[in-house]
Amino acid sequence: MIDAHIHLDDKRFDADRGELIKQAQDIGIKQFIVPAVRASGFAGLKQLSEQYNSIIPSYGLHPYFISQHSKDDIKYLDMWLTANKSCAIGECGLDYFRKDLDKDIQQYYFAAQIELAKKYNLPLILHARGAVDAVYVTLKNAHYFNVMIHSYNGSLEQTRALLNYGVKFSFGGAICNPNAHKLHKLVKYCPIDSIMFETDAPDQNLYPDFRLRNEPINLLKILEFYAKLTTQDLQLVQQKSTEVLQKYLNLNAQPSSRYRNAD
Ligand SMILES: [Zn+2]
Repeated sequence: MIDAHIHLDDKRFDADRGELIKQAQDIGIKQFIVPAVRASGFAGLKQLSEQYNSIIPSYGLHPYFISQHSKDDIKYLDMWLTANKSCAIGECGLDYFRKDLDKDIQQYYFAAQIELAKKYNLPLILHARGAVDAVYVTLKNAHYFNVMIHSYNGSLEQTRALLNYGVKFSFGGAICNPNAHKLHKLVKYCPIDSIMFETDAPDQNLYPDFRLRNEPINLLKILEFYAKLTTQDLQLVQQKSTEVLQKYLNLNAQPSSRYRNAD
């Protein structure tokens, strides 16, 4: 298994990161896609990925932190991508759920990162909270759909449109809430070759312990829940979702072809 979205660089993991990675690996979670959220975190994430082979970094600028980003951060991200391995660009996107985040400024950073994704031929790891329509329109205008939307929750209509463009979706602990009927319908609607799974740890702990820290081992619980929900074999689900992620992020490619500057 691979965790499609986990903030293992978060300081809430500083005290026991190594132990948690080992626990996860012991139950078959081999790799972790770790998206950066702001420029000040790039160097720390790079260092962690050197310390732990299982950490696969992606660099980007998250809409939550627009007050901390500057236009120079786009230039910095561009430079960073020429010199450092990144499996994707992100976490980036739009958040219309939080009302304190200026939509135009979010749009500026999102559009700029789509251009970088085109330049480096990299997929995007997207955040689209309360903003699936706006994300869709932006991608359409940019003619770029090499994206996955993490912690996805859209309508069936939106999902159908995105699936037509080959968009991938990642689902997390929210699906384990027995009351999340709408989300369950959505998860069942998505073909297995379009989905992957994530913890988004340390956030989004599983039902009902929302206030506790989410941990890497919970990926297995999410997959177990999904397998049960869709009456599929757990092993098959583990294998399929791993393959979707490997293919999407080109994880099996040789470093020389995978990354712009191989080392
Ligand atoms: Zn995230």
